[in-house]
Amino acid sequence: MPCFGEVFGNASSHQHGFGQQAAALVDTARRQVAGLLGCEPAEIVWTSGASESDNLALKGVAEAYADRGRHLITAVTEHRAVLDVCGRLERNGFEVTYLAVEADGRVDPERVAAAFRADTILVSLMLANNEIGVLHPIREIAEYCRARGVLFHTDAAQALAWVDCRVSALGVDLMSISGHKIYGPKGVGALYVRRRRPRVRLIPRIEGGGHERGRRSGTLNVPGIVGLGKACALAAAERQGDAERVGELRNVLLELLRAAVPGLTVNGGLRHRLPNNLNVALPAIDAERLLIELTTVAVSSGAACSDPGAGGSYVLKALDGADDAAERSLRFGLGRSTTRAQIERAVREIARAVESHRQRPNAEVGSSCGDPCAVGGWA
Ligand SMILES: *Cc1c(COP(=O)(O)O)cnc(C)c1O
Repeated sequence: MPCFGEVFGNASSHQHGFGQQAAALVDTARRQVAGLLGCEPAEIVWTSGASESDNLALKGVAEAYADRGRHLITAVTEHRAVLDVCGRLERNGFEVTYLAVEADGRVDPERVAAAFRADTILVSLMLANNEIGVLHPIREIAEYCRARGVLFHTDAAQALAWVDCRVSALGVDLMSISGHKIYGPKGVGALYVRRRRPRVRLIPRIEGGGHERGRRSGTLNVPGIVGLGKACALAAAERQGDAERVGELRNVLLELLRAAVPGLTVNGGLRHRLPNNLNVALPAIDAERLLIELTTVAVSSGAACSDPGAGGSYVLKALDGADDAAERSLRFGLGRSTTRAQIERAVREIARAVESHRQRPNAEVGSSCGDPCAVGGWA
């Protein structure tokens, strides 16, 4: 809060005390983020969120390494901020291999190895999926990339609050994170960019002033950055305990749901999964209709950022045997502050909604989503 008033200096104005004070806060935040990621502060680039970080990582690497190759590898279940960027790159002369996932939602490292070409420059695979919470075998995939001299980017937006994301343990070269996914402010994020062995080169997407060592220009969002730093410091201190407690609550939620809604199945494997995520398919029930009945439970049928009207989640459709599960599914996200009493109340309300839906299965549905917006060229 003080950054909106008392400490209003521009962190790039090094010639006076007001700017220096703001710069000192940004430095602290950079160390806090670097602490959680296990990297050097100079390897952190501030952005407006994980979407921008993904754009900078993929487009920045593609442009910087285009002379070496024009092939990228990703997976069909990635976030839109990666898939849409890949589509843009394809329209600009790059080639992208979209890997399929196994029945549990994970990418088999052998599929990555088989997709490598002589001109592959980058692999981008998320740490944890935003809809089904499934964790890819990032470490093994990173080893394959390293052995081939291919850069590896991971979108860790969903994972950072719940699992160890230290970059050297994972072996990644670039990592996207987002403030609001780890209890920080919205509209701020960061990109980790490895500086040694190898030193990753990036062509910036935003130029003008050379901030962030030339990788992302523009006056820094000091309040957002300070909030992201604090969120990282809190995560470093409390993540492990949170993950254990919330994981147990998630298992309780699943048990109670199974008892209340016979025939319910889990989308994606449970073994390699974020502790706070549950995504279930309801038997013969349209999830969007059910959501209308749920007045005090905030669940969703897909991702907040996916294309409405596309006929259900592309992530669920990519799972083997998911057939029409995409339209029958609910995604639960538990939080740090979720209690057992809330879980029990949520299950009671869902059981009630399922019952009422069975009695009147054809109630009217409207869409609360806006139109997907068109975006301009990137180059
Ligand atoms: C939320 C999310 C994003 C987008 O993050 P913003 O900070 O909203 O831009 C990107 N990737 C994943 C996996 C996410 O969950």
